[in-house]
Amino acid sequence: MAIDRVLNSDSTGAAEETYNASLRPRTLKECIGQQNIKDKLSIAIDAAKQRSEPLEHILFYGPPGLGKTTLAHVIANEMGAAIRVTSGPALVKQGDVMGLLTNVGAGDIIFIDEIHRLSAAVEEFIYPAMEDFKVDFTVDSGLHAKTINFPLKRFTLIGATTRAGLLTAPLRGRFGMLYHLDFYTPGELTEILRRSAEMLGLKCESKTLELIAARSRGTPRIANRLLKRVRDYSQVKGAGKMTLDIVSKSLEMEQIDTLGLDELDRSFLRALIKVYNGGPAGIEAIAATLGEERDTLEDVVEPYLLQIGFVRRTKRGREATPAAYAHLGMAIPKANERPVTQQELFEEQ
Ligand code: ADP
Repeated sequence: MAIDRVLNSDSTGAAEETYNASLRPRTLKECIGQQNIKDKLSIAIDAAKQRSEPLEHILFYGPPGLGKTTLAHVIANEMGAAIRVTSGPALVKQGDVMGLLTNVGAGDIIFIDEIHRLSAAVEEFIYPAMEDFKVDFTVDSGLHAKTINFPLKRFTLIGATTRAGLLTAPLRGRFGMLYHLDFYTPGELTEILRRSAEMLGLKCESKTLELIAARSRGTPRIANRLLKRVRDYSQVKGAGKMTLDIVSKSLEMEQIDTLGLDELDRSFLRALIKVYNGGPAGIEAIAATLGEERDTLEDVVEPYLLQIGFVRRTKRGREATPAAYAHLGMAIPKANERPVTQQELFEEQ
């Protein structure tokens, strides 16, 4: 069974979505971090506005919770354009896309989340829409099949994905701007939390926000979610005061350790170390051991463990690094204690 996870950086549920939306920055200036992307976007937006043209199509990629959706809304706001939001799995048939494309106004933005999950048929259908702003729609089938050519208004497509690698080359090639979102520094996360705390009318010592930031795995969505949990805890146990002691206790209750790792992160590392002797192990095997989806591990767990150097990805699979052993307080097995793999046998010869 999947482990319940406070740190799951995928957004869950309507209440969570409302909370997220209420804290979402509305302008580029309000966005914290990602300076390089903001600079480039700012220039592209100013240039497009000066020419009274829509922006080029944009692809944002990176782990969940880093601000891809936020940036799409910010761009729409800065451009004074309407935004239509959908996702790859929601667009199943050509008809689904047809409705979306024919209703879009000049300069409007279509945001497709999880764009790597578009079906092949839908993907091919949107190529001419992205390139020439027209679509060929087939009505009826067999002998009576007719292709109708629809001209479209010039729109901007913004795609978001956690896996740029899964995008086909023709789709990737149709985006004019591709931006990779990186994890945020603790300083940037503290800023984000300060802004959120102010918006929520919370009174807290600066050190408490630094503590939450340090435990947020470089991810604004996790930072805001932890802030919510800490707010609840302090209301019930600390008469509404978010002191350092209250914050530490509530994070402890959520089983988040000093590096911001939660039970699922630690289970991943423990499986790799105990069951697979530190690796190399394939992601499918680790997923089966944990009873988790492979996608969850690849999207949500691994990126941060790779970032902090606890896991290495090699051709033969995932390997735990000495830093991971040290964090879990485990001894690194001596070379002769590890089972020799077939590959290693060959390498030794
Ligand atoms: P993604 O689409 O990449 O999964 P979101 O755009 O939904 O991530 O971001 C999650 C939450 O994090 C947002 O609701 C917003 O409150 C916060 N957030 C994201 N990026 C920023 C930023 N640059 N500055 C401040 N808050 C941010």
